[in-house]
Amino acid sequence: MEYINNINNLIKEKYPMQLEFHQAVREVTESLEPVLKKYGKYEQNAILERLVTPDREIHFRVTWVDDNGKVQVNRAYRIEFNSAIGPYKGGLRFHPSVNPGIIKFLGFEQIFKNALTTLAMGGGKGGSDFDPKGKSDAEVMRFCQAFMNELYRHIGAHTDVPAGDIGVGAREIGYLYGQYRKITNRFDGVLTGKALNWGGSLVRTEATGYGCVYFAQEMLKEIGENLDGKICTVSGSGNVAIYTIEKLQQFGALAVTISDSKGMIYDKEGIDLALLKEIKEVKRASLEEYAKEKKNAQYTPISQYKDGINPVWHIPCFAAFPSATQNELNLEDAKALLKNGCKCVSEGANMPSTIEAVHEFINAKICYGPGKAANAGGVAVSGLEMAQNASMTPWSFEQTDKKLHQIMESIFSNASETAKEFNAAGNLVVGANIAGFRKVADSMIDQGVL
Ligand code: NDP
Repeated sequence: MEYINNINNLIKEKYPMQLEFHQAVREVTESLEPVLKKYGKYEQNAILERLVTPDREIHFRVTWVDDNGKVQVNRAYRIEFNSAIGPYKGGLRFHPSVNPGIIKFLGFEQIFKNALTTLAMGGGKGGSDFDPKGKSDAEVMRFCQAFMNELYRHIGAHTDVPAGDIGVGAREIGYLYGQYRKITNRFDGVLTGKALNWGGSLVRTEATGYGCVYFAQEMLKEIGENLDGKICTVSGSGNVAIYTIEKLQQFGALAVTISDSKGMIYDKEGIDLALLKEIKEVKRASLEEYAKEKKNAQYTPISQYKDGINPVWHIPCFAAFPSATQNELNLEDAKALLKNGCKCVSEGANMPSTIEAVHEFINAKICYGPGKAANAGGVAVSGLEMAQNASMTPWSFEQTDKKLHQIMESIFSNASETAKEFNAAGNLVVGANIAGFRKVADSMIDQGVL
């Protein structure tokens, strides 16, 4: 469709270096064709042009002092994409790979994901090329304080509510929140992922992983299957991977892999969750430690990966849960999964599969849950944290988990029904993109030309 081609060409011309952003826009826009053809109002109102152009892009310098007294400088970003249905909402990523293209792809995805949750949240994302790995707690604290010295003026409980992402966990949120409170003299729900003593929500830590497994369960129900007794592969070993494995184990599945930026573990007996938590949540160490503790587990360092493949996806499994980072599963990996009988892919990470891999899954008609639907549980419980902060009433674990479960069911049924409405039954990429798009686009039209 000409309108879609024009949008994709426009962003390539305007932002030639932002490859991940091109990919995210292509993935969304190519599935919007039926809705754009059916309703001329979206093109008439330049909705795609407005959606791919953030409301506001804040780029700033963060200057801080390391433990040796040396001054360090990092780049940082907050990109506020769209607030038509609620305050900007999306995580902060601290990782050396962070650049404007990565933050823009994440922020763009977040618009549709947040719309799918049914809660009132717009889309935004932020972060820095700061690497918390190998830094002392004091260095992380000084960086977070310096980061907030600029960020505080752009955020607010009804304006923009950041959260965690890669490299930003409970420790970083604590330092960021403390500095926000110090500067503004306000105690409000300006960040989510807070600790329980000062406004956090139960289940937020577990939400993305648990939600991703609930979503897989919904997809599998449609084909009369479940996870009980099934072998599953998981990539990553951070927040999302850990709580995906925890829920898989509760459902009777056997998760056999984990990975990090240095290598992967294949543990046929099933991942030892307590050991994994000790290594990643307490010691913040590499997965090599896992193989030292568990002799039967096989460790493959990244230096031994064959060109262009991620060995996690070459281990036979019934269901796969990519939970590390973008583009970690390519066409070769997708083919290997299908050849080995994989029936379900539920994405915990954002855009972990390349476009070619996504097409392969869709064509094979397996249960494929794209990240913006399958991993929406994290931001959904962030939304519940905002509701608890606003009412100053904490909810119980059971109450919050039940609500998370209901939201994941509703995201699945919304995506599934929308796919049927547009003659793409079973294609949750089309269903999720159109369902999220319609809610935001119609709200933009209602509110006039802005
Ligand atoms: P964490 O920082 O807790 O963990 C990230 C994991 O991925 C670590 O194991 C890390 O390895 C690994 N990893 C990161 N980059 C690479 C890379 N380039 N190659 C190989 N492994 C890598 O992050 P999260 O678990 O929070 O996030 C994981 C994914 O889930 C991201 O895509 C994030 O955007 C997405 N997501 C997270 C949500 C949340 O609530 N946390 C919500 C929705 C999506 P190492 O330990 O060596 O750094």
